[in-house]
Amino acid sequence: MPDAVTTTVTVAARLSIRASRLALAIAAAVLALAGRPLAAEPMPIFDAHLHYNDEATAVHPVPEVLRLFRESGVVAILATSRPNDGSRALVAAAAATPRAAPRVVPFVRPYRNHADRQTWFNDPEIFALIESELRRDVGYRGIGEFHVFGRDADTPWVKRIVALAVERDLWLHAHCDDAALEILFGHNPRVKIVWAHTGFSTPPATIARYLARYPNLMGELSYRYDVTEDGKLAPAWRELFVAHPDRFVVGSDTWVNERWAQYREIMAYYRGWLVQLPPDVASRIAFGNGERLFGTGGNR
Ligand SMILES: [Zn+2]
Repeated sequence: MPDAVTTTVTVAARLSIRASRLALAIAAAVLALAGRPLAAEPMPIFDAHLHYNDEATAVHPVPEVLRLFRESGVVAILATSRPNDGSRALVAAAAATPRAAPRVVPFVRPYRNHADRQTWFNDPEIFALIESELRRDVGYRGIGEFHVFGRDADTPWVKRIVALAVERDLWLHAHCDDAALEILFGHNPRVKIVWAHTGFSTPPATIARYLARYPNLMGELSYRYDVTEDGKLAPAWRELFVAHPDRFVVGSDTWVNERWAQYREIMAYYRGWLVQLPPDVASRIAFGNGERLFGTGGNR
């Protein structure tokens, strides 16, 4: 029965070809999965709390920090520095080599030196410093980070800075306690505030009340290690992020050089809990919210 044998052989051969095609397809799919952008590239991050202070510029020159941003998947930064030379150096570097740098969103820092941190809120010279810095062609989008607690926020100079921010459509980057936050909004409820560390220890339930009360408030999450418990996203924070996905940003807070040394770990920590959120919530907190608020201007 040669015909039957031929048919059987042909069918077997076809089946075998199909099987090997399937094997090839699976292999290709596996390769494609392994090489897909999501696996190869980390979730982009907008670092919304970065300092490039004078002690950092000496140890970590501009090309080195630009490389650190690239290697950490940080595609935009909210840059501040004491004095403001560091931020301006980052702005200049990003303008000169936009492909090698993140987008830089500079804020005026109201400190010339360490001591100003304790006294800036009562110092007319600091107001003059802010005004003169804003006259530079740097593309400043805000004022901060500054530190202020309790009634220290209730000074004529802070009130003038709040008025200036509202008038010029600038953000404030405030490291403050709950009392000072209320005073800042009391000066002018239209002021826009990035709340550094989201109050540092303010409980999620209280944060939720502030978010409802102050539509121009954004929570920045550096040093909020209570966001996780044993590496898992804490339930109260998950609830807060899912309910308010547009109100949070993340940041490195490189306030001392030790934080520059930990930069990669800090970003890895964020990604560790961001991936536990629904992807759209995670990408907004990681990057989208910063882009929405500061997506125009700067060096791009
Ligand atoms: Zn800071």
